[in-house]
Amino acid sequence: MKEEISRLKKEKNAVILAHNYQSGEIQRIADFVGDSLELARKATQIDSDVIVFAGVDFMAETAAILNPDKEVLIPSQIASCEMARFLTPEIIKKYREEYPNAQVVLYVNSTAACKALADITCTSANAVKVVNSLDSDVVLFGPDANLAYYVSQRTDKKIVPMPPNGHCYVHTNLGAENVRRDGVLMVHPECSPDLQKIADVIASTGGMIKYVRNSDAKRFVVATERDMVERLKMEFPDREFVPAWENAICLGMKQITLKGVYESLKNEKYLVKVPDDIASKARRAIERMLEVS
Ligand code: SF4
Repeated sequence: MKEEISRLKKEKNAVILAHNYQSGEIQRIADFVGDSLELARKATQIDSDVIVFAGVDFMAETAAILNPDKEVLIPSQIASCEMARFLTPEIIKKYREEYPNAQVVLYVNSTAACKALADITCTSANAVKVVNSLDSDVVLFGPDANLAYYVSQRTDKKIVPMPPNGHCYVHTNLGAENVRRDGVLMVHPECSPDLQKIADVIASTGGMIKYVRNSDAKRFVVATERDMVERLKMEFPDREFVPAWENAICLGMKQITLKGVYESLKNEKYLVKVPDDIASKARRAIERMLEVS
C-alpha cells in the first residue's frame, strides 16, 4: 500500500499534508506534518497539481481556498470537526448586530461559510497575536469558548465567546480529574480552564514541539489528541511522551486510513470545492491571519 501511494504521488504530482493528530502510519507517509497554522502556510507554498489532505474537513477547505488552481482531495467524506458545528453564519450575524463595533476572529476550526463572515481567522498557535493586532476593544471570538478563555487571559480586549458553549469534545473531556501528572504537563488551549490552570505549559501542537526542543526535561504528559504523542516521538526519539488520557481520540481525524489515502490518490476523490463567492471572502480572512503571524 505504501509503495502504491508513493508511486501514485509521483504519477499525479501530488503531495500529502497530514495533521499532527493523524495516526503514526499516516504521519509517516506524509510529505509534511504540522498543526493547522503550519499546514495553512504550507498550502500556500506547494508546487504540485494535487494535494491530499489527511486531516478534517475545515483543514482541507482551507487548503482549497488558498489553492483555487489545484485539486484538493480529502480521503474521507466523514472526516469532520465537531467543534466547527457549534457556529453558523446566522449566529455570527446575530452577534454582529448585538456588538456593532466589535471585530470577528474565527478559529480556523470553522466552516468556509463562517470564515467568509470573519474579519480575520486564527489558530491556537497565533490566537493572542491575531487578537492583539486588531483595532477594536471588543472581539467576538468563535467557535471555541476554551480558546476564547485562553486569549482573554492574555489581552486587554474584551473577548466575547461566540457561542458561549463552543468546544471540542476531545479536549473538554480531558478534564483535570482525568489526566496523569507524572511528567511536564503540556496542555492544549482547547482544554478547559481548569486544566489550563494546572498546566506546566499551554501550547498549540506546533508550540509543544518548540517547547520540547528548548526544554531539558525527559518526560512529558501530553494533554491533547492522543496521536500527538506519535508526532513527538518521531521528532524526539530520546525523550518520553505519554498521552494525558488514553481516550482523547478525535474520531473525525481517525477516518483517514492508509487505504483511504491510496483510494483518494487513485480515484481522485473526494474533491474539496468551496463556492467562489464564499472562497474569496474566506481567503481574505485567512490571508490576513497569515500576514499577522
Ligand atoms: S480534536 Fe476537536 S477540534 Fe480538533 S479536529 Fe477533532 S473535533 Fe475538531
